[in-house]
Parts: sequence; structure tokens; C-alpha cells
Amino acid sequence: MKPKGWKDLPPGSVITRPGSATEFKTGSWRTFRPVWVPENCIQCLFCWMYCPDMAIKVKDGKREEFDYDYCKGCGICARECPGKKGQKAIIMVEEGK
Ligand code: SF4
Ligand code: SF4
Repeated sequence: MKPKGWKDLPPGSVITRPGSATEFKTGSWRTFRPVWVPENCIQCLFCWMYCPDMAIKVKDGKREEFDYDYCKGCGICARECPGKKGQKAIIMVEEGK
């Protein structure tokens, strides 16, 4: 699909279709990728609370893998993660390595 130019956008860039943000896989913007280390995870869910992109999946009150389609790699989750006994449960690695 050809990207829209500014002349194609509605005045004020008003969103006319609810839920359309899910179509944009913003994970392609990432230069660093968070990696979960489950053995250091205490399931505090801080990462889920702090993630600005809702890119951490939670099921039955427990965190699961990252949703890399929408994770922009900002690193907030890794920064806020307390981990277990000083060992982080999220580390940031360079994308593609
Ligand atoms: S790196 Fe940023 S966008 Fe990705 S899961 Fe962590 S807080 Fe969310
Ligand atoms: S912030 Fe860290 S310790 Fe807490 S749930 Fe997320 S990965 Fe696990």
C-alpha cells in the first residue's frame, strides 16, 4: 500500500476510524529490542504498566512475551524492571544481533 501524503490526510489529521492504530506495525521503528529473561522475572508487571505501547502481553495476571509488532524499543520497561536480586529480567539488545 502506498503511504499517504499530507494532502490525503483529513483536516487536522482527525482519526475517522476507531482502532486504525492497530494497522501500523510500529515495531519496524526499533533499533534496540527488549529481551525477557523469565528466570529473573518476579511478575511485578511494572513493565506492563510503564510500556507506552501496550507491547507486553499479560495472560491470567502474568506477563508473557513482548508483542514485537508494536514495541518501539524505547527501553522504558528495561529501565523500570526491578528483576530478581538485582538481576534485570529485561535487557536491551541491538536489533538484528
Ligand atoms: S521497549 Fe518500550 S515499547 Fe518496547 S516493550 Fe519496552 S516499554 Fe514497551
Ligand atoms: S518489570 Fe521485570 S520483573 Fe516485573 S514483570 Fe516485568 S519483566 Fe518481570
